[in-house]
Amino acid sequence: MKIGILALQGAFLEHKNILDFLKIESCLIKTKEQLEDVDGIILPGGESTAMGKLLRDFNILEPLREKIKNGFPVFGTCSGMILLAEKLSNSEVVHLGVMGIEVKRNAYGRQLGSFETEENFKGIDKKVKMVFIRAPYVEKTKESVEILSTVNGNITAVREKNMLAVSFHPELTNDASVHKYFLDIVKKNKK
Ligand code: GLN
Repeated sequence: MKIGILALQGAFLEHKNILDFLKIESCLIKTKEQLEDVDGIILPGGESTAMGKLLRDFNILEPLREKIKNGFPVFGTCSGMILLAEKLSNSEVVHLGVMGIEVKRNAYGRQLGSFETEENFKGIDKKVKMVFIRAPYVEKTKESVEILSTVNGNITAVREKNMLAVSFHPELTNDASVHKYFLDIVKKNKK
């Protein structure tokens, strides 16, 4: 199993560190050709407008969208969740638009944008550490979307088939449980 990490912008190295710790082979994705070489991809946190622009400029957006629609496992964290969303409630822009969620960017406002907590996560049998940085949350979900975690009533983790999205940064903690959850999706898809 080999995992790609989109490395155009943002916190991609932190994801690589977690995969290294888990002894999972990974590579940094900067071209569309590299997508063919991996079993799943992580879309890191950063700045979704910049990342969306780079995905378009490097011609990765369309091939990645097609692959995801065909079942390629994807894990979006923070900005990555924004890239996956079918709709943004406070912006006209849609990037990959593959996941049946409506997401609010910078949903906690600028002042309260960054905080840390521990919450339940469906499918993980302990509380998960969650770091939020100018984070989005999910405002609406389609029926096909499973809600995995909420923080103060706001949806912060969702799963739809081959797609996993969280509004926090699991890569900025020493807690690898959400990455393991994603790796299970990749393993099952490979079988
Ligand atoms: N606010 C950023 C955005 O809109 C997301 C922040 C993050 O990824 N930490 O893309």
